[in-house]
Amino acid sequence: MHASTQQGGGTGHLVNIDAVMQQVAEHKGCGTTGGSGKASCGSSAGQNDLPPEIWEKVKNHPCYSEEAHHHYARMHVAVAPACNIQCNYCNRKYDCANESRPGVVSERLTPEQAARKVLAVASTIPQMTVLGIAGPGDPLANPAKTFKTFELIAQTAPDIKLCLSTNGLALPDYVDEIARYNIDHVTITINMVDPEIGAKIYPWVFWEHKRYTGVEAARLLTERQLRGLEMLTERGILCKVNSVMIPGVNDQHLVEVNRAVKSRGAFLHNIMPLISAPEHGTVFGLTGQRGPTAQELKALQDACEGEMNMMRHCRQCRADAVGLLGEDRSAEFTTEKIMEMEVNYDLEGRKAYQALVEEERVAKVAAKVEELAGLDGADADISLLVAVATKGSGLINEHFGHAKEFQVYELSAKGAKFVGHRRVDLYCQGGYGDEDSLATVIRAINDCHAVFVAKIGGCPKADLTAAGIEPVEQYAHEFIEKSAIAWFKNYLAKVASGAVTHAPRGDAAIRQGALIVAA
Ligand code: SF4
Repeated sequence: MHASTQQGGGTGHLVNIDAVMQQVAEHKGCGTTGGSGKASCGSSAGQNDLPPEIWEKVKNHPCYSEEAHHHYARMHVAVAPACNIQCNYCNRKYDCANESRPGVVSERLTPEQAARKVLAVASTIPQMTVLGIAGPGDPLANPAKTFKTFELIAQTAPDIKLCLSTNGLALPDYVDEIARYNIDHVTITINMVDPEIGAKIYPWVFWEHKRYTGVEAARLLTERQLRGLEMLTERGILCKVNSVMIPGVNDQHLVEVNRAVKSRGAFLHNIMPLISAPEHGTVFGLTGQRGPTAQELKALQDACEGEMNMMRHCRQCRADAVGLLGEDRSAEFTTEKIMEMEVNYDLEGRKAYQALVEEERVAKVAAKVEELAGLDGADADISLLVAVATKGSGLINEHFGHAKEFQVYELSAKGAKFVGHRRVDLYCQGGYGDEDSLATVIRAINDCHAVFVAKIGGCPKADLTAAGIEPVEQYAHEFIEKSAIAWFKNYLAKVASGAVTHAPRGDAAIRQGALIVAA
């Protein structure tokens, strides 16, 4: 099936990626906060690409820096139960789908409980560098609880970065408060800048004691979101914009959203897939509105990636998530457990641990740079995807059967670029392999040429090979990017010698009419 006519799910909608690409070609320009220059923004940008003051803000923030997310953890505290708008993808019995996986928030906390939890987590996980308030409602619809929590944390854990996620309706009223508490990372969920489209996403908004519906509600929302964004970036606060991609509703329109937020100084745009299932009880779930495929999402992200980088490593975390992105250790920090814990907030110890993390990170970058040198003169026409099983630290350190997700890298003459992750069912079910899960895994990564793992059993290895995906174990416990580039150089050498014929896989293969091995 061609990407531009991909059809699926309940809506029967046709995604015209070619049209999207054309729209994007017309808009370029950096949206970096504070006018810091064209090449200076983006989630994959490194120390040499960014002004020092921006680098300081993003270097150990797992959401604002793709590279940092391998090493640093974040946590959310659920102190904000109320919300001032209704989204068709959200059911507040569950975590808000724009910032979290659907699943009930285990506990709602008071600001005092939240502050204790932050100290408990910071004592146990020294690489936890970011505290965010993301719900389960809207933090700015609960301003007293939200700012009290930030105040307590700023007093007791001064090295932790403070983040806030909001739907933006109340944002213009709280920008000064946000600046006063040194909350220097704000996420605004902006799904549209056209009220007609907005009316399909938001049934109502509640503002100044009045409920608004339809186009009027969406117009009010978009005006206040964009004004809030401008006010924040004028004050030098880094802003990320989250957009939920809803096929047939706002997918093509998100290019226009990208243009609007870029011109107002947003640092990063995070386009996320709609999560929609009937059991979540959301309007979209109950009406059969489908989410995008991984390939559709990537195509839109690629199309929007001009000089403003796209966040591609978002895990749509729960509003009470704890740990590295992609893992959730919140069960270790329930209120009952943290009340019993000995909390020892050791600022110097945290700094020392993070210095070790930085050493590892520097070594990883150096290894990648060294390996990259050998790619000079590589065939610029060949690019392909590989999947990686990892538990973090930028290493290939997960067993194939234990992987709950695979990270996907695009390899080309430019090197290895992180382009997303694919969630999968666990193949290994306590000692035996689940064949249904294996089929799901293969389907999830069937546009990849290889899968890098720490270890893999004989059966899945044979099935992956039969599906045309090379299982690669030889780089177990080594750095991902260095290993991927080394493997790619070897692949290019085989292509050059005629031992292998390069053919695109998955969606790229479909686009180019190539034959692929189906999972
Ligand atoms: S939802 Fe996305 S942006 Fe928010 S903490 Fe999780 S990974 Fe970061």
